[in-house]
This record gives sequence, C-alpha cells and structure tokens, in this order.
Amino acid sequence: MKAAPFAYVRPTRLQDAVTELGSAQHGGGKVIAGGQSLVPVLAMRLGRPSTLVDITRVEELTHMTVDDQCLRVAAAVRQRRVQREASQLVPLLGLALPWVGHREIRSRGTVCGSLAHADPSAEMPAVAMSLNATVEVTGPNGRRQVSAADFFTGAMATVTEPTEIVTSVSFPIASSDEGYGFAEIARRHGDYAIAGVAARVRSTSGAVVEAPITSFGVSDKPQLRDMSGALQRAVDSLGDPAAPTSEITNALEEPAHAMAEDVVTTAGDSHGSTAYRKRLVRVLAARELARAYRSSLKGA
Ligand SMILES: Cc1cc2nc3c(=O)[nH]c(=O)nc-3n(C[C@H](O)[C@H](O)[C@H](O)COP(=O)(O)OP(=O)(O)OC[C@H]3O[C@@H](n4cnc5c(N)ncnc54)[C@H](O)[C@@H]3O)c2cc1C
Repeated sequence: MKAAPFAYVRPTRLQDAVTELGSAQHGGGKVIAGGQSLVPVLAMRLGRPSTLVDITRVEELTHMTVDDQCLRVAAAVRQRRVQREASQLVPLLGLALPWVGHREIRSRGTVCGSLAHADPSAEMPAVAMSLNATVEVTGPNGRRQVSAADFFTGAMATVTEPTEIVTSVSFPIASSDEGYGFAEIARRHGDYAIAGVAARVRSTSGAVVEAPITSFGVSDKPQLRDMSGALQRAVDSLGDPAAPTSEITNALEEPAHAMAEDVVTTAGDSHGSTAYRKRLVRVLAARELARAYRSSLKGA
C-alpha cells in the first residue's frame, strides 16, 4: 500500500516549523524526525496527515549539549549518535539504546521521536522516567518543560498538543553514587520488548537513597515505582551491604512480585500472556535493581 498524498516541508528555523505545523490544513500536520515509526504508519494508511513537517534541517534541533549537570538532546539528534557519544555521561542510555531496533533504525531514529511516539513497549520513555528527565515542548504559545513522569498519558499519547514540537529532552548526568540496571525480553533482538525494566539506584555508604524502576511493555504507558524501601529492607536482611548480586536478587523476590502484580495490566497477546509478563517483570526487576544497587556502591 502507498501513503495517502501529503504536503512536505523542511524548514530550517524552529519558528518556521512551529508555524508550518500550526497552519497545516485541518490541523493535520505531523512532525517527521527519523521517520522510523511514522513512515510505516503512513504506508499502511493508519495515519493520513495533510502536511509533514520535517525537523531534521532545523539547525537548533541538531545539537547535543551539556549544561547544568544535564545532557540536553535536541529533537533531530539520532539515537545512534547518543549511543556513541553520551553513554558515559548517561550510562542508562548506553545500556538501553542497543535494544532499540537495529543499528540501521537507530541511525535515523531520534530519541525525542521515540518519546513523542510513546509506544508502551519502547525503551526511551522508560529510561527517561527512571532518570527523571525533562522534556521540552515548543508550540505557538512558547516553550514549556514537562517531567518525563507527567509526559506520557497513555498508549501512543503524550501531553503535547498537535501544534507542538518536542524540542529536546534533558537527562541528568550520572553521579558517582548511582548505579543502573536495564533488561528486556523480546522475541528477537531488535523487536519491541514483551516486557522490560530500567532501574536506577543511588546509595550512600550502602544506604539506599533513591531506587526508581520503570517497567515497560506491560501497560498502556511506562510504569514508574519507587523501590527504595524494599531495596533497603532486602539489603538489611542480608546483614551485608556488599552482599553478592545473586543474594540481593533473591532477597528482592517478594517485593518484585508485588510490584509486578501492580504494574502489569496489559491483556495477553500473541507475544505472551499477562501471567508471563508478570513473571518477566518479577525476575527482571529483582535482578536489575540488585545490579543497579551493586554498581552504585562502586562510586562510594
Ligand atoms: C523494524 C523496526 C524495529 C523497531 N524497534 C524498536 C524498538 O525495539 N524499540 C523502540 O523504542 N523503537 C523501535 N522502533 C522505532 C524507532 O525507535 C523509531 O525511531 C522511534 O520510535 C521514533 O523515532 P523517529 O525519530 O523515527 O520518529 P518518527 O517516525 O519520525 O515519528 C514518530 C512519531 O512521533 C512524532 N514525532 C517525532 N518527532 C517528534 C517531535 N520532535 N515532536 C513531536 N512529535 C514528534 C511523529 O509525528 C510521529 O507521530 C523500531 C522501528 C522499526 C522500523
């Protein structure tokens, strides 16, 4: 099938992109960034935008910068560039990006496009939530900042208006008292996850300060939970803050089970039943939290 006809514009200034999006016929404008999700949608005629506004030539959207202890990734920056250049600054991105499709897809796909697309099984929304990232959105009324936790409203749905562009996402730079864990299960490498988790732990002298974990592929949007209390209790029960990862994983079994029961709401599908997804989240969450905790100790 071929895409329905559409107009195509490729402005070089952000203001012009916003204007083009706002003036598209019948509000039918759509941003195109990497095109890795949008083009299949067009080809299958699941969407029929009147105008595509290509933002990849907007100069101010091509930068990746570090300021205020944050890595700011603008909207035209490709996933592969972030993977190559920013994995040390934001290690959770480095752990998660290899799971996003294949290299060829990451060479065109953008991090902001992945957030804007808001697929419930996508990796970048979960990473953004665990890192407490900030999404910048620009529209006819100017710019606004939205925390990643508030950005996703449902399956393929975000707080952005049709006339707004996601202009950047800012991830806090890693601190030495943080550790990370990321894992997912997919049918084949490069497929969207059946279920996955992204964990971050901050600890001081073995005491857990923060332990957010985000599950994805299990609900209409990524599910963020605070596991600091459960993790602290698990570590205390072992009587040794530096206990091996496997022992901490076992001690986390019960709270991970409770979390999985809470976060997995997706009905079963051809990829796996609800019970299977709960099992995946339980196993992955316990293991990745334990890993994140252990790696947070290294900086102490
Ligand atoms: C075979 C295949 C496998 C894939 N596997 C995975 C996977 O495992 N995990 C994963 O996360 N993704 C996967 N993807 C999708 C890929 O990561 C996309 O790159 C990503 O979802 C969207 O980024 P994009 O820049 O290509 O956006 P586009 O395709 O250009 O746009 C996607 C949607 O977001 C909107 N949009 C894009 N940028 C903006 C913006 N700045 N502001 C407002 N709206 C915007 C568009 O209007 C459109 O609705 C896969 C894709 C393919 C083809």
